[in-house]
Amino acid sequence: MSLLKTTMVTTLLLTGYSTYSHANTPPELSLQNATWKFNKQSAYALQHDDYCGGTQGSIDTIVVPALLARGLTASFGVIAKTCWAPLWEKAREHVNAGFTLFNHSMRHTPAYKPTWEKSNFKVIWDNKRDIADANQRIKNKTGFTPTFMALPYDIGSDESYAYVREHSELIAMRAPVENNGKWSGNLGINHKDFSNPYKLKVELFHNWSPYWKLGKNKRLPAFLQETIEREGFGIQYFHGVADESYYSVAKSEYLHFLDKLKKASDENLVWVADASEIVNYRFAREYCTLVLQSRSQKMANFSGQGSLTSTKKCNKSNGQLTAMADIEDNIRKIEQGGQAIKFTQVAGKLQFEYETNKGDVALYF
Ligand SMILES: [Zn+2]
Repeated sequence: MSLLKTTMVTTLLLTGYSTYSHANTPPELSLQNATWKFNKQSAYALQHDDYCGGTQGSIDTIVVPALLARGLTASFGVIAKTCWAPLWEKAREHVNAGFTLFNHSMRHTPAYKPTWEKSNFKVIWDNKRDIADANQRIKNKTGFTPTFMALPYDIGSDESYAYVREHSELIAMRAPVENNGKWSGNLGINHKDFSNPYKLKVELFHNWSPYWKLGKNKRLPAFLQETIEREGFGIQYFHGVADESYYSVAKSEYLHFLDKLKKASDENLVWVADASEIVNYRFAREYCTLVLQSRSQKMANFSGQGSLTSTKKCNKSNGQLTAMADIEDNIRKIEQGGQAIKFTQVAGKLQFEYETNKGDVALYF
């Protein structure tokens, strides 16, 4: 499907001169942050829950090799207390291979009484233990600091929500399907400018998915397709693959879906990344702007030197952003902080990745 170019970029970053060389001023130059990294059309995060709670076998033997073979990534929700030494070692290996881990509590108990449980159900939950201590344990055992929280069963409470928000390491969370014992629903696609990273909508591989009725091999690509069409952010989560875990997905259906996902990624329709990385990008692109500082009057050899606006919010969302510009003149070189950075310029469309915390960006013509 086609896409209006104007929707691919969000913030106007550089505004400047409106006249051309006759008036001794260079042509207008503006740099904009792409909505999603690499100027892809949408963003997508894959998650597998219950690592160390039943899914670890298929994650080790099916999921990780299949994703690596396609150059894709996913994140695994660790139940911190139920891992034992060899599983921690495997988790470390996955992190070293580029995968991420997220916090899925200490023992996978609900943070509030689920509505489907009887009135005498005992809630065994402690915010400090199940959020803070679980994060610390995953960090101690793997060296990876989780930045994303998924409450077991996506069952939340106002207290657990507040606790996660106040935890300095956790920057995002899945929205609750039930909060304080009331159905709130959490299925859907996140708008590209979503405002609350602690209430992220999801798609779960489960028969309550709105795509489920499409049947095998169609329901998974349907959610992906809708995410792409909306230019939004989709989080799809599974449990295991071809195992005894909760709503385990068949291996053939999973691999078929990964092939579709890889194709969409290769065609720049979707940026597949860790959910926290996507959240970071979304806020960095809003808070960090390249502002024109100085510019040569010599058209043939001027430098359009930008400087990152130093705002607290930008500093908090350090990361890599994709910059875009419409520039007719050929760019010879781009530097950030004095270091050359890669760029592409095709039919006047300039594109490059820059770091939000590595200093000025200079364009050389
Ligand atoms: Zn779970």
